[in-house]
Amino acid sequence: MQFISTRGGMEPVGFTDVLLTGLAPDGGLAVPASLPILSGADLEDLRPLPYAELAARVIGLYATDIPEPDLLTLTRAAYGQGRFPEPVVPVTGLDQVTDGLILVGLSEGPTMAFKDLAMQFLGQAIPYVLRRQDRVLNILGATSGDTGSAAEHAFKGQDGVSVFMLSPAGRMSAVQRAQMYSIADVNIHNIAVQGVFDDCQNLVKAINADQAFKSTYAIGAVNSINFGRIAAQIVYYVWAWLRVTDELPAAERSAYRVDVTVPSGNFGNVYAGHLAREMGLPLRRLIVATNENNVLDEFFRTGVYAPRASKDTLATSSPSMDISRASNLERFLWTLLGPDAFAQAWRRLEEDGRVDLSKHVAAMRERYGFVSASSSHKDRLTAIRVVHATAGRLIDPHTADGVTVALSLMQPGFPTLALETAKAAKFGETVAEALGAAPEPDDVLRALLEAEQHVETIGHNVDALRALIEQDALVPEKV
Ligand SMILES: *Cc1c(COP(=O)(O)O)cnc(C)c1O
Repeated sequence: MQFISTRGGMEPVGFTDVLLTGLAPDGGLAVPASLPILSGADLEDLRPLPYAELAARVIGLYATDIPEPDLLTLTRAAYGQGRFPEPVVPVTGLDQVTDGLILVGLSEGPTMAFKDLAMQFLGQAIPYVLRRQDRVLNILGATSGDTGSAAEHAFKGQDGVSVFMLSPAGRMSAVQRAQMYSIADVNIHNIAVQGVFDDCQNLVKAINADQAFKSTYAIGAVNSINFGRIAAQIVYYVWAWLRVTDELPAAERSAYRVDVTVPSGNFGNVYAGHLAREMGLPLRRLIVATNENNVLDEFFRTGVYAPRASKDTLATSSPSMDISRASNLERFLWTLLGPDAFAQAWRRLEEDGRVDLSKHVAAMRERYGFVSASSSHKDRLTAIRVVHATAGRLIDPHTADGVTVALSLMQPGFPTLALETAKAAKFGETVAEALGAAPEPDDVLRALLEAEQHVETIGHNVDALRALIEQDALVPEKV
């Protein structure tokens, strides 16, 4: 499988290359040059497999430059004991809430959010590729919470990789802070920046703009545009569809199409769903759910894509979706428009700050199955209350966004998978606001909150960051 850039300026490269690079050299995103197909018979072949084996088979359709037995070793380590319980992705009917609503549990991993499912794979696959190429990598990133902790838990203790993760001092939840700062492994470096998330991101950009520094210190990234993460996310769409069709007579399965609701920010999760659908998985509609930062909802309803500045991005009770420029949307626009029209549309977006694709709204809906809606803080509190009262289950505010939108757009006769993107305990304050009482932290959580924390605090100052990297980075000669 070869990958090309959405901007048309990259020689085709293989999966292991896109795994280690962020943006393509021309500034675009890597997209598969063609799509593998999953026929009904293929899906039946995959049905009996445990999650790790399914992951090796599905990711293997893209990672054709990793030998199959190696890939299976990587996915078994990523999704095995100690990292995920069994089942890795539980699929639970919520008929008590409404007929046909199904919760897909994507947050069973070590940091209680769906990002673990992709990041744990990278945590195995990237060190493997580095070993093969006799290289080291210093991962530099900025996080507002979920990505950073997922990355640190995936890469802690791995050879040949270190992580420098910037976070805004005092602006994450207690659980998010504890998940990151309690890590004691020497290859994990937590750096709290006196500022907001954007200040963290600006520091990362400043380091990345310094090519000489970047190559001396082998600086890389594992952000949401990494195609390795997308490939690993396709797996749970296949898994969830297989589980909801397990009990059906064999002859009826391939015609059983389900809707999926995806709480969205950077469009990474739902883009993986789009690829699964294009590969032939019987998904009917892909429902993009946003919070008050509803740029994506506006786009799918009107065809106008108008990203907002970070100063116009609201701080909501579903903070991991507080994004007003959805990086991965570029990949879908490239598919929707084709390379030439995409290039034109992108130029318009860069010049005018918005692009009107309203004549494609019908195709987005009918050809690709995309629909959308958004939720308010009040809606999410209601969803948390309703799911708790009827099904006895706690959901977090991101999942509550998806459930709100699912309930408003569901159609009789079509089951809807609502993706659970985080655990309620991770966002206990909002859950407490909804229910009147905070969920009791369990022993694991209590121990986590009490663990010693390791973090260095710096000002909004690139020289301070540079000094920390110079002091602690793995450098190629030393290995
Ligand atoms: C990252 C995140 C999202 C948004 O996912 P995207 O792939 O960026 O669209 C939703 N919910 C939670 C809990 C997240 O951490």
